[in-house]
Amino acid sequence: MTTFTTNPVAFIPKERVHRPVDASIVSSLGSEPWKSSWWKTTDGERPTFLYIMAIHILAVVGLIFFATPGWRIMVATVSLAWLGGLGVTVCYHRTLAHTALRLHPAVKHLFIFFAMFNGSGSPDSWTANHRQHHSKVETFEDISSPSVGGFWWAHLRWLWQAGKIPLDRWCPDLDKSEYRFWRRMQVPLLAVSLFGGLAFGIPAFFWLGPMRLVMSLHAQCFVNSIAHMREVKEAGEDSSQNIAWLAVLHFFQGENWHRNHHAKPSSARFGWKLWQIDFGWYAIWMLELVGLATSVKRAPTRA
Ligand SMILES: [Zn+2]
Ligand SMILES: [Zn+2]
Repeated sequence: MTTFTTNPVAFIPKERVHRPVDASIVSSLGSEPWKSSWWKTTDGERPTFLYIMAIHILAVVGLIFFATPGWRIMVATVSLAWLGGLGVTVCYHRTLAHTALRLHPAVKHLFIFFAMFNGSGSPDSWTANHRQHHSKVETFEDISSPSVGGFWWAHLRWLWQAGKIPLDRWCPDLDKSEYRFWRRMQVPLLAVSLFGGLAFGIPAFFWLGPMRLVMSLHAQCFVNSIAHMREVKEAGEDSSQNIAWLAVLHFFQGENWHRNHHAKPSSARFGWKLWQIDFGWYAIWMLELVGLATSVKRAPTRA
């Protein structure tokens, strides 16, 4: 059962509460940026804040005026979000961040395209933030922890308030021209993602652009926030939890089995039991069958 609490440090063991913030992450809002007002941005992150605010306002407008855009637009919207989600879970998360498998380069870059088109950022920064999260979980050094700043900090605010993560420290293996290329593509790709629907009319703009991007953003953010809001009862535990209903927002692609994942982070499979649907894993299994995924790590799957 999901446990909510208003005390942001209730989840972490007392001896960890007063540890200093990871000195490698510098926010211009100070050493405890979660104490700043939510609208304040750290240096260089004002565009991130304005982008997130803008897509939310546009998504609400779209929902009010174009709630039923027709089946073609709805299918296109869900398809792009589905491919973007698969790109994040199979490529960003399981392949790049945890090296739980290797993907054929063509498949890898196709997944990166769809993940970036879905607003998930460049592969190197996603990987760096995620590795930092696993490495520092349940401490003040975890950049996106609800233990540190509460629900909204973990869900969204860290994106514009926490400060930039040093890529050379967390993902030196991604310091390659192929990933630097995608970093340079981030803004143009996001512009096409946001406005490209205009070519198909105004309802298509709202659904394929801001409404899809907002839905996909929150699906991912819930993994940072509520998937880490389980009260820690025993020493050595972390706050990660499996949340069955979150599977709907993730199109049953497996990210909602977050406790399984923290228990065996190097496993390419997140859904351990038959009923824990994990389309990310099924996709990997099929890619492996045709030789497009190799070195797939399988951890023992006892829940
Ligand atoms: Zn986690
Ligand atoms: Zn992970």
